Amino acid sequence: MNIKLLEQSKDKMNASFLIEKSTPAFVNAIRRAVISLVPVMAIDEVEFSKNSSVLYDEMIAHRLGLIPLTTDLKSYNLPEKCTCNGEGCAKCELKLSLSVSAPEKGDEGVWVYASDMKSKDPAVKPVFDKIPIVKLMPGQELEFVATARLGIGLTHAKFSPAHAYYHYKPEVKVTKQGESRTDLKDICPPGVLDVKGGKLVINKEYAFDPKLFEAAVAVSEGALELKESDTDFVFHIESWGQLTCKEILGAAVDSLKSLTSEFVKSL
Ligand SMILES: [Zn+2]
Repeated sequence: MNIKLLEQSKDKMNASFLIEKSTPAFVNAIRRAVISLVPVMAIDEVEFSKNSSVLYDEMIAHRLGLIPLTTDLKSYNLPEKCTCNGEGCAKCELKLSLSVSAPEKGDEGVWVYASDMKSKDPAVKPVFDKIPIVKLMPGQELEFVATARLGIGLTHAKFSPAHAYYHYKPEVKVTKQGESRTDLKDICPPGVLDVKGGKLVINKEYAFDPKLFEAAVAVSEGALELKESDTDFVFHIESWGQLTCKEILGAAVDSLKSLTSEFVKSL
């Protein structure tokens, strides 16, 4: 198997890579491990002391659970694997508190944002500051202490670290009759085709986007032929922000490894 990084965003939260000489079963196992077995932090319990906003406690708690929190996998354990046996300690949970009240006078009200939560650990805080929680109208108050824990996507979607998907690597060819169709360069989606030495060729920089190729083949009138590789895959990860793509893949592979060794032990 060969792996080649195709692109990665500056913040390392989005990445695409090519997996060569593999099988759909293996690539899909990685995909499933990424979305459902990698632990991330999320708010799991909320204790309200004041809430006179228009939203019920339950609705606010649900919103809080879905706020992505930056995750520090080295400092926290999954509650069920912690030395406290899941009772709750500094190694497996973290408190975040919030206290906001809107002034009695005025008619504007005050927005409560994710950044209003004060975290006890600077390494674990909301990924995006401006996620709105609720709007408080004059005189309304909101005060709570939330408990964040590590969890996996298999138990609740709020613990999922990323959107992950893959597709077969597109293999596009210019057919014999297509070589002279240099006019197609401007008709097909921009950048897909190029003209070199008077002949129509595929632009290698676009070699991994099947959607663009599908569109190009559809309008090419037989000049292009699209096939998909059986053994090569293009894999994409889009992190929700808790972990970088590299951390997510590392944790996914670790969890697959421990699952397979558990399987061997049980056998
Ligand atoms: Zn613990």
